[in-house]
Amino acid sequence: MNATPPAGNDRPDQVLVLNSGSSSLKYQLIDMTGGRRLATGLIERIGERTGRVVHTPGEGGERREREERIADHRAALEAAGGELSADGLGLDSPRLAAIGHRVVHGGQSFTRPAVVDESVLAEIERLVPLAPLHNPANLQGIRTAMELRPDLPQVAVFDTAFHTTIPAAAARYAIDVETADAHRVRRYGFHGTSHAYVSRATAALLGKAPEDVDVIVLHLGNGASAAAVRGGRSVETSMGLTPLEGLVMGTRSGDIDPAVIFHLMRVGGMSADEVDELLNKKSGLLGLCGDNDMREIQRRMADGDADARLAFDIYVHRLRKYVGAYFAVLGRLDALVFTAGVGENSAEVREAVVAGLQGLGLAVDAERNAARSGAARLISPSGSRVAVAVVPTDEEMEIANQTYTLVKP
Ligand code: AMP
Repeated sequence: MNATPPAGNDRPDQVLVLNSGSSSLKYQLIDMTGGRRLATGLIERIGERTGRVVHTPGEGGERREREERIADHRAALEAAGGELSADGLGLDSPRLAAIGHRVVHGGQSFTRPAVVDESVLAEIERLVPLAPLHNPANLQGIRTAMELRPDLPQVAVFDTAFHTTIPAAAARYAIDVETADAHRVRRYGFHGTSHAYVSRATAALLGKAPEDVDVIVLHLGNGASAAAVRGGRSVETSMGLTPLEGLVMGTRSGDIDPAVIFHLMRVGGMSADEVDELLNKKSGLLGLCGDNDMREIQRRMADGDADARLAFDIYVHRLRKYVGAYFAVLGRLDALVFTAGVGENSAEVREAVVAGLQGLGLAVDAERNAARSGAARLISPSGSRVAVAVVPTDEEMEIANQTYTLVKP
């Protein structure tokens, strides 16, 4: 064990990024001088009979995995600390400058990351009704980290913050204003850290400043959202009050006539909780064809499976509607960008989304689109009016950067 670095090398230049879920903790330790990942880990099944700890040193080092009971979030963070110490790093290291926490809902209060103090904790708590599954777990992660390293700055980085620039015309629902205000009902948007990172990386790929480009970002993971970003600022996004609105996702329906809900309750005899579960957990690609993994859906399509084909077509149709709508919102476009699990890996989805959109200046080059790569890249033909790009997202690096910007000496 070598938790104490040699004298003279104690500059705090590392950020630990934590993403706390209700029964999981994801962490990454990042060296901010070189933008290098020093370790990545995941602790799952916290509070269950057997938990799982997976730790990978460096970028793609040899992965260690074990099962043991992890009683609570404190035990999870201690387990992460133990794994880091075994690599000569550690929670107790003087190199640690801060801990950056992913927080899902920052409401309208947090337009940028915040160094955590009592008032920040109270405000995140006040937002719990808007994100009842996520904010409590995020808070637990912050409180645990504060217990273990009370001397370190803890920074909250909000998934909603990037979208606080969306104008009222796009953010308000057309419902009674008093009712909406009383219950804080409006469109907040999520995946903001990813949309911020990817839109900036796209500007860099085009050799331009973020202020000089207008882009549509399609974040297509298990959760999925689109964002229209004008000159580096989000002006529209597809998720709303919650992450349920918008695109077809792995298990979420996305847009739906709200009267479907009343219909299912009144005519179908379902409770509010049952409809909530239906639309969030049993819908989307899973509800349509029984699979939520795009790889499996593509395999089934190749075998002539009609349900998988229809699920794919519905998924793509929704995306094309959003691309057209966001083109109109922006009025002009420099790039359409694909990111996250499906966006980065599925040439089929990218091709189908862009097919026939030459009228909007959009096209993909078949060879570029099919080439596999982990790098940010253009997939449109040379000389295209609008670029089409694949830009891998890196939410942890973005959280680390935002955290370090706030605390660096
Ligand atoms: P994420 O939430 O960003 O980790 O994305 C997870 C999703 O990405 C999975 O559920 C898959 O549907 C999708 N995915 C990952 N790899 C591929 C691939 N090679 N082809 C198509 N989809 C993929």
